[in-house]
Amino acid sequence: MSSLYHPVLYDRDAPIGSYWEASAPPLGRETPALEGAASCEVAVIGAGYTGLTAALSLVEEHGTAVTVLEAGTPGWGASGRNGGFCCLGGAKLGYDVMRERYGVEEMRRFFAVQMEAIELVKETCARRGIEADITGGGEILLAHRPGRATALRDDRREMYELVGLDCSFLDNDALAERGLAAAGFHGGLELPLGVALHPLKYLRGLARAAIDAGVKLHGGSPVSAIERAAGRFALVTPAGRLTARKVIIATNGYTEDDRLPQLAGQLMPAQSSIIVTRPLSLAERAAQGWTSPVMCADTRRLLHYFRLLPDGRFLWGGRGGISGSPAAARRAQRHLRQSFEHHFPAWRHVETEFFWRGLVCLTKPLVPFVGRLEEGLYAALAYHGNGVSFTAWAGRALAAQVAGVQGAEALPAVVRRPLPRFPLPFLRKLYLTGAYAAYGVQDATG
Ligand SMILES: Cc1cc2nc3c(=O)[nH]c(=O)nc-3n(C[C@H](O)[C@H](O)[C@H](O)COP(=O)(O)OP(=O)(O)OC[C@H]3O[C@@H](n4cnc5c(N)ncnc54)[C@H](O)[C@@H]3O)c2cc1C
Repeated sequence: MSSLYHPVLYDRDAPIGSYWEASAPPLGRETPALEGAASCEVAVIGAGYTGLTAALSLVEEHGTAVTVLEAGTPGWGASGRNGGFCCLGGAKLGYDVMRERYGVEEMRRFFAVQMEAIELVKETCARRGIEADITGGGEILLAHRPGRATALRDDRREMYELVGLDCSFLDNDALAERGLAAAGFHGGLELPLGVALHPLKYLRGLARAAIDAGVKLHGGSPVSAIERAAGRFALVTPAGRLTARKVIIATNGYTEDDRLPQLAGQLMPAQSSIIVTRPLSLAERAAQGWTSPVMCADTRRLLHYFRLLPDGRFLWGGRGGISGSPAAARRAQRHLRQSFEHHFPAWRHVETEFFWRGLVCLTKPLVPFVGRLEEGLYAALAYHGNGVSFTAWAGRALAAQVAGVQGAEALPAVVRRPLPRFPLPFLRKLYLTGAYAAYGVQDATG
């Protein structure tokens, strides 16, 4: 198999080691591997937020018979191991380029659906009784250099003009008053939007809801090929064969070119890593001056994302390495720990209890894709490391398109243009190495 990264990143039998696995109740439903021949109307590949949301929407809102095939267990991918930041996001494109490429109205539509997506997650958890430890309100972007504080003030104007979002700039004193005192930041922009959640509890809540609604969900069923036969698709797994009228690919950063050549060369998976400390005592939190559960990220291109968890642990995340090997994982963990200690000197003695990593997904135009790839074949993916909220909207929007009740034009132009291939796709990791080096320089100087 020719995956982009070291095989260990795709090994569904290897332990993930996340804090979420250690703290989420089990799924409580059986998800046996597909065996023998089966058929359905719509087959979904991947049981992350995208696949499950699309499946649930198809069954409940459009009365469609759906089967989901997942290579690991439900939520094995990024959905069960992310930081739990349910906030604005999905693209990595700068505002200026986005405006130039798509026009201000389409950009406005794109931000409007991001805002809708956050509400969808909150509403889904409330309506379905999913206990996902939702905490905090809003998100703060912290300037890691004085110049970035100026850029944040520009962003504030931009957000207001685009979607009427009234953000506030907080200087370091105001941050400290809010229980957000860390070293090496120069104020921050507060976005009054978004919540933090337990990603795996949310995922398992979605999976339970999908199964209970009638979705057939098979774990341990990696799809090795999508064949076309007599006007239908046939999805091949190690022990089974599923035929379907339509197929949704929801494999995001775990899409492998040889298994799903329909997307070959169009995606750039990248690693993200997280450390979680032991619970901090109230005295330790006070010593640092960081007592708030609000979600934060810094302004680095190679950004860090961080927050205090409900049980007092601290989550600190950032990019992973390039190769994905176990040795690279150890380097990524060391790197994360150094940056954590730099910003939180009062917690240098606090042990890391969990470290894990996973794959996010980027595209060449730096925007997500939601829509039709070819007749009967659809995909929603590439949320640029920010899909907890966006998947709730994307899965549902794609379901409406697959069910034929909504055309592509109902989606913002930002997400519906066909994805170009990366030139010489086998060089993708080299491009990433170059980009990381350039971003590192910008982060240190800009
Ligand atoms: C460490 C980390 C931290 C993150 N933090 C945040 C955050 O705080 N906030 C945020 O918004 N986003 C975050 N993200 C990104 C977010 O998790 C993703 O955007 C989102 O989960 C994507 O969901 P998905 O369902 O599209 O894909 P995934 O959850 O990755 O699911 C894809 C699934 O497809 C399966 N699959 C792949 N190939 C096959 C095949 N051939 N056959 C069958 N199944 C297959 C995989 O096993 C996987 O389970 C983070 C990601 C990582 C890795």
